Amino acid sequence: MEQKKKNENDYDFIIIGAGVAGLASAMYGARLGMRTLCLGSSHGSELPIGGVITTTNIVENYPGFIRLSGEELAEEMRKHAESYELAAIKEEKVEKIEKKGLSFLVKTDKNQYNSKTILFATGTKWKKLDVPGSKEFENKGIAYCALCDSPLFKGKVVAVIGGSDSAAKDALVLAEHAKKVYIIYRKEKIRAEPINMERIEKNKKIEIINNTNVVKVKGNKFVKSVILDREYSGKKELQLEGVFVAIGHIALSDLAKELGIALNDKGEIIINHKTSETNIDGVFAAGDVADKPFKQAITGVAEGCTAAYSAFEYISKHY
Ligand code: NDP
Repeated sequence: MEQKKKNENDYDFIIIGAGVAGLASAMYGARLGMRTLCLGSSHGSELPIGGVITTTNIVENYPGFIRLSGEELAEEMRKHAESYELAAIKEEKVEKIEKKGLSFLVKTDKNQYNSKTILFATGTKWKKLDVPGSKEFENKGIAYCALCDSPLFKGKVVAVIGGSDSAAKDALVLAEHAKKVYIIYRKEKIRAEPINMERIEKNKKIEIINNTNVVKVKGNKFVKSVILDREYSGKKELQLEGVFVAIGHIALSDLAKELGIALNDKGEIIINHKTSETNIDGVFAAGDVADKPFKQAITGVAEGCTAAYSAFEYISKHY
């Protein structure tokens, strides 16, 4: 691609979000000869460069790496992207994106940039528990990141709320430190990956409470107990000191919505699953913010790479 460098703030491809989808896309964008900027810390999830994967203890489903931490995987991807002169990663918060003719104006808390194409790789944020006490005790026993906070609960009794593989993984991380870990799930049977289910069943510290909701969190300065909507071992009150919430994620799509990007009823960006294109020409989406049902690091990476290629084709056609 011909590089017409008018201004150092002019880019071919700007990626909003520096999780794994964004980082992989930056690497591909640069390889395709596009002047690429990946803006992290940009979507209000308060996660570092690398995004949500950095809160995962062990990643063992990313090909090429039998077992490594989420932080290590993110760091490898960051280094890989930055090894290309055409790719830059900056920690800036994107505040607004405007369409200006064929291109886009991206305003951050520090700068403004022009770009021919945009990729939303903004990911998700944690869905918050919404019961009496859940706000009051946030960071006083209620936590959302098991990997970050589990060492604080050494020798204590804790619970994970949720029933997906995330809840299972959180319970396993917590069991490394806590004395006892309950998984409290609202339906019949949790949906962990079989390999994690097996680990849970073998772990004597973990106990699953099915068909049960937490309806209240109690304590004084810190959490002391939760109230369940049905009895467990003859009681509705469960004494514990930590509550880890793993009840899902909310797509960070506000900036996309403001730009006129079509969203589904979950607030995810609707993409063409072959090309990662959105309803607006020159705008793409990838990773957990996009409307794909199977959200994994590897699928986000693949969508990010596809988006980079689609952006390259779009620029080749229109510029
Ligand atoms: P999910 O939406 O998959 O699961 C949320 C869980 O919380 C469900 O069990 C749900 O129950 C429960 N829940 C939701 N709301 C409430 C509530 N108000 N009270 C009690 N329980 C509630 O979210 P995840 O964050 O686990 O996963 C999001 C995505 O990330 C998924 O697509 C998953 O595939 C992906 N992921 C990828 C990983 C990887 O790359 N290896 C690892 C972990 C997750 P119910 O079952 O009744 O709906």
